[in-house]
Amino acid sequence: MRLEGGTGSAISQSPYWWEARDRGTDQPLPSGAIDVAVIGSGYTGLNAALRLARAGTKVLVVEAGDLGEGGSTRNGGMVSGTLKVSHPQLVKTYGKERADRIFFEAQNSVLFLEKQIAENAIDCGYQRHGMYFAAYAPKHYDDLAVEAEQLDALGVETRMVSRADQKRELNSDLYFGGRITTFAGGLHPARYHAGLVRACRDAGVQFVTRCRVEAMNKEGGRFVLSTAKGTVRAERLVVATNAYTDGSLSWFKRRVIPIGSYIIATEELDPERLKALIPGKRMIQDTKRNLYYYRLSPDGRRMIFGGRTSFRPISVLESARRLRLSMAEVFPSLANVGVTHSWTGNVAFTFDSLPHLGSRDGVHYALGCCGQGVALMSHFGHCLAGDILGTGETSAFAFNPIKTVPGYTGNPWFIPVIGEYYRFLDWLDRPSRS
Ligand SMILES: Cc1cc2nc3c(=O)[nH]c(=O)nc-3n(C[C@H](O)[C@H](O)[C@H](O)COP(=O)(O)OP(=O)(O)OC[C@H]3O[C@@H](n4cnc5c(N)ncnc54)[C@H](O)[C@@H]3O)c2cc1C
Repeated sequence: MRLEGGTGSAISQSPYWWEARDRGTDQPLPSGAIDVAVIGSGYTGLNAALRLARAGTKVLVVEAGDLGEGGSTRNGGMVSGTLKVSHPQLVKTYGKERADRIFFEAQNSVLFLEKQIAENAIDCGYQRHGMYFAAYAPKHYDDLAVEAEQLDALGVETRMVSRADQKRELNSDLYFGGRITTFAGGLHPARYHAGLVRACRDAGVQFVTRCRVEAMNKEGGRFVLSTAKGTVRAERLVVATNAYTDGSLSWFKRRVIPIGSYIIATEELDPERLKALIPGKRMIQDTKRNLYYYRLSPDGRRMIFGGRTSFRPISVLESARRLRLSMAEVFPSLANVGVTHSWTGNVAFTFDSLPHLGSRDGVHYALGCCGQGVALMSHFGHCLAGDILGTGETSAFAFNPIKTVPGYTGNPWFIPVIGEYYRFLDWLDRPSRS
């Protein structure tokens, strides 16, 4: 199997997006008083920092790696306001009024993201191309159709596509039709991130990278962070560490379930050849429990193909091998193309499959994107800042503090078991395609 790119160069084990990443420079901790310390330099932390700094607050973002080390420069760049929990499930759990507020706030996070990109002139190739959910089995198509009616009733535009018409959306014989959601799009994750970094710098936000927070305490009403580079004191604290939350924030770590997700990028291909596979340039997700998600790169020259390839840690060379087979299953015509990049990142799940924001003992947090955080975590960062600034805005997600279960310490030992069970269910769903 050929894994290297067309040029014969070795496969890169970093995200394809990192070629456009702003890593920041390694600097010492700044001296002087800090109003708000933000732990984590992803979309959540940067959106919080930006709003705070523009309101005149002195903000320091503390990052364990380089800027954007976590999910924010590793993701698929698919933008949607979708939650893992459907509207009917939300109604069942929380009642109609609260369910509507949660649902529409998630939907509207897409508008927030679009506004943020436009107002800050962020050149990240954002396009509202829409998303196509591809049915892996005939029954999945029926389920998508039922959901389409529910979404239409909520004013969310959808369109069912039969298997016979599918080639106009997705040129693959693997699926049994699907559903388009138009209110969705795609961007270049690292260019969006770099645009936020620039806006933050212009607003006066200070950054310190390669500076892991090792412990967090409170003294005389102020937060004291012990870091690899010294001590930081701040009046207020934001935890924006999502799936990378570590033992220094043990209360939060016990509430987040990190799960690895894997992506490959192909070598540059003829754009017309790729356009023939996904003519509308939509973002694609399939309906398997262990889903595939894929799209064209913003310049239309590469296939970016992701999936939950393994539930145990594996090398990105092994994930590249597996994802390449999956890509060939969807698009047999790509079976022999080169793969130039293969990478992984952690997605943060929660015990109720919803993302959360709130505050605990004065620590403001937003965690648990459940794999759909480009728009939502950006919006949550903005909300956290609003909370600190006392704007009086309320988020529908803030009523419900993030929970854990007895015995969970942050090590998701049960995930491989659940993953294998899901793989088995996907296998049962797999129809004969003759
Ligand atoms: C492979 C993959 C594909 C994805 N695809 C999509 C997609 O297509 N669409 C979508 O909407 N979402 C997607 N997501 C999810 C999305 O990337 C996340 O929701 C989003 O990036 C979360 O942003 P964040 O700022 O909360 O966290 P992150 O960007 O993960 O930032 C957290 C940061 O905290 C830092 N940190 C942690 N602990 C410490 C500490 N003790 N001290 C200092 N710093 C610390 C980490 O180094 C990290 O940089 C995907 C995620 C992955 C991993």
